[in-house]
Amino acid sequence: MRLIDHVITGGTAGLASTRKSPVFDPNTGAVQAEVVLGGQDALDRAVAAAQAAQPAWAATNPQRRARVMFNFKALVEARMDELAELLSSEHGKVIADAKGDIQRGLEVVEFCCGIPHALKGEYTQGAGPGIDVYSMRQPLGIGAGITPFNFPAMIPLWMGAVAMATGNAFILKPSERDPSVPNRLAELWLEAGLPEGIFQVVHGDKEMVDAILDHPAISAVSFVGSSDIAHYVYNRGVAAGKRVQAMGGAKNHGIVMPDADLDQVVNDLAGAAFGSAGERCMALPVVVPVGEDTAERLRAKLIPAIAALKVGISTDPEAHYGPVVTQAHKEKVEGWIQKCADEGAELVVDGRGFKLQGRENGFFVGPTLFDHVTPDMDSYHNEIFGPVLQIVRARDFEEALSLPTRHQYGNGVAIFTRNGHAAREFAARVNVGMVGINVPIPVPVAYHTFGGWKRSAFGDTNQHGMEGVKFWTKVKTVTARWPDGGGDGSNAFVIPTMG
Ligand code: NAD
Repeated sequence: MRLIDHVITGGTAGLASTRKSPVFDPNTGAVQAEVVLGGQDALDRAVAAAQAAQPAWAATNPQRRARVMFNFKALVEARMDELAELLSSEHGKVIADAKGDIQRGLEVVEFCCGIPHALKGEYTQGAGPGIDVYSMRQPLGIGAGITPFNFPAMIPLWMGAVAMATGNAFILKPSERDPSVPNRLAELWLEAGLPEGIFQVVHGDKEMVDAILDHPAISAVSFVGSSDIAHYVYNRGVAAGKRVQAMGGAKNHGIVMPDADLDQVVNDLAGAAFGSAGERCMALPVVVPVGEDTAERLRAKLIPAIAALKVGISTDPEAHYGPVVTQAHKEKVEGWIQKCADEGAELVVDGRGFKLQGRENGFFVGPTLFDHVTPDMDSYHNEIFGPVLQIVRARDFEEALSLPTRHQYGNGVAIFTRNGHAAREFAARVNVGMVGINVPIPVPVAYHTFGGWKRSAFGDTNQHGMEGVKFWTKVKTVTARWPDGGGDGSNAFVIPTMG
């Protein structure tokens, strides 16, 4: 059985942990590898290597650090096919989505190619007599990233690229469900010229996460995952004196106004609700048609569009989406489908029991559609994270606006309309962090920042862009006075001259 080990500078020989976790092939249901689950001793070794390497990396001028980012980007681009296949084989997302996962991460690396500009400080000349004030951004030291299964390339790069470009050492604890791509990225960082000890990977579960949160030498933790764990990570990390940002779950709504282009909406929903089997924190699992007529027209178009979706193995180029990540997750999604039906919603298309010929043990869930879902239902209140779309009908704009605004999650939201005023009003008033106007998945580009509100994020700073630079650095402000000597010669300051 293939063993996926930590990537720690100095090696892993002699570490105590013998715990392991299976890594599945979601297409077949078979165990294809095992990943080690480490603890304190593995982390201590990684921290020691990071401590040895970080001061020299921080002292490397930002332009040279940026060159490593350029090299890494070129290496990943050259290996895109190989990386996408590896990612798809453990996650189950189709190859096109796997490439998207890597590409979105690379866009943050591209942002980091310009890190010298982003790190420039502020300067005030003459803040007082002979006094100038300037600020500089300095790295925190050692940072850690704890990441979810659903974007095993993009999210480690959101955090890691910015942390390292700004002069920190970065220790990644990826999801134990698809750990191979993070290891491969570690090899490529070294090949790109990153010094040893600056990017390391430690594998594990809660034991490793707790060791990271309590480690006194780790200054900052960036987490992305489900909300209860995000909240726990935030509280424990902050209690240990660390800077923490912890992104959580989501339940994003798509508001469909009566004037929307419904063919476009249905096309967008097919990708946004079911793409990657709904395992995206920016998926659109709730659609809110405004008015009964809009609801009926939308439903009539959605049913055939869902019937046309092809579920297949992740390497099938024709497949819209592949299996979910594990059998346990498949059961959880199917449990929510049952719950939503029990709560009284109308199960229009039932994706349970979907079987792919020859892959009967794969973790597939067919596309599922519910109508007449209401805000009091648990299945509406909670994240399902599967290929399940819920229609919640609203009487008017105000009711539609109130649904995402009052929901416990506030990651993303979209409005589909031809009315600029409605869109503008919606964007200004909705209580959600990322808004799309006729854009179903409004993931901001890398030089803006990514982050939700309410239970979708704990902490004040978003991922990547200038918010990422702020998170991974601390500001030092220098107030300098250079007196002119005063005339009696005792404190004379002589401007040096050549010759
Ligand atoms: P998860 O919360 O199960 O795991 C996330 C990380 O936490 C993993 O590294 C895991 O090993 C670790 N972990 C698991 N259990 C733990 C515990 N008890 N204590 C400490 N650490 C623990 O999340 P997941 O299932 O891998 O990913 C899906 C979730 O991530 C969804 O809720 C999704 O919405 C969310 N997500 C959010 C964003 C965002 O930016 N807001 C982006 C992607 C995914």
